[in-house]
Amino acid sequence: MRGAILYGPRDIRFEDRPEPTIIQPTDAIIRLSATCICGSDLWPYRGIQPIAQPTPMGHEYCGIVEEVGREVRNIKTGQFVVGSFATSDNTCVICQHGYQSSCVQREFMSTAQASLLRVPLADGTLVATSDLPPKELIPSLLATSDVLGTGWFAADAANVKLGSTVLVVGDGAVGLLGVLSARQMGAKRIIAMSRHTSRQKLAREFGASDIVSERGDEGVARIKDLTKGIGADSVLECVGTQESMMQAIKSTRPGGYIGYVGVPHGVSLDGEQLFFAHVHLHGGPAPVRRYLPQLIKLVLDRKINPGKVFDLTLPLDQVAEGYRAMDERRAIKTLLRPNGTK
Ligand SMILES: [Zn+2]
Repeated sequence: MRGAILYGPRDIRFEDRPEPTIIQPTDAIIRLSATCICGSDLWPYRGIQPIAQPTPMGHEYCGIVEEVGREVRNIKTGQFVVGSFATSDNTCVICQHGYQSSCVQREFMSTAQASLLRVPLADGTLVATSDLPPKELIPSLLATSDVLGTGWFAADAANVKLGSTVLVVGDGAVGLLGVLSARQMGAKRIIAMSRHTSRQKLAREFGASDIVSERGDEGVARIKDLTKGIGADSVLECVGTQESMMQAIKSTRPGGYIGYVGVPHGVSLDGEQLFFAHVHLHGGPAPVRRYLPQLIKLVLDRKINPGKVFDLTLPLDQVAEGYRAMDERRAIKTLLRPNGTK
């Protein structure tokens, strides 16, 4: 089979790779219906997060089960499944508390930009649909695998409730789906920070009531203006830079909540500033598995359409162009279709 391998900064190749096989009896092999490129894939792609050797890429996936190991009980060959970027047994104490992305048996998925994928801990990691879903829902189902699950966690961690005033920092795919999530959770007002016309438009479609294009101190001042000088109840931090984190902390009302899901790069917080900000901070790698059944149902019932964040669809063999388009911000998010998928 063939798949995407990163060799170094901006050098991604589509190459022959060995087909995955069952290694542990709890594994499954799935044939991907669709995969995609994550905003976090751009960190190593840009060389900001250096790689030691040629590295297979991809951690968002959905597809049809081809084979299961002898200890897999619930997942069956032929089922359509979605899984998270983090594997989980879904039974340990941490999983029972809803933090499957810190499962004691966790592994991070990293070879999903390919036609076939080995998924460890299949019973705990994968969620199957009862029937094969219609083709047009595949992009939205793929979105539940990471980008929607992560936006949803950001909103949940930020304690979004009926009537909340919400701020979303970051207009990437996760931020945009954070807007959708906050809307689903009943937010009254959703302020999206964005400077890009196409992203502003999608933010409004997903439920944003206000758009703020200023950043830094000016951005904070605008949020204060819009919230009677108080700040937002709930802030979703979906970038992971020092600037975005400070934007979030300074825009939250005392006693308010920040859900941070942007993977931090070079973020350091000042203890005293944090102390007097008087905010709740909760974030980390999203426990997508906790939300998957609910999110898959919302998609199948056609209540939400998170697949709209994919504004570029390419055959998998054009994966390099998919990365370029996202790197140059020509695309919000690229969906990849493996060749020969039914
Ligand atoms: Zn676990």
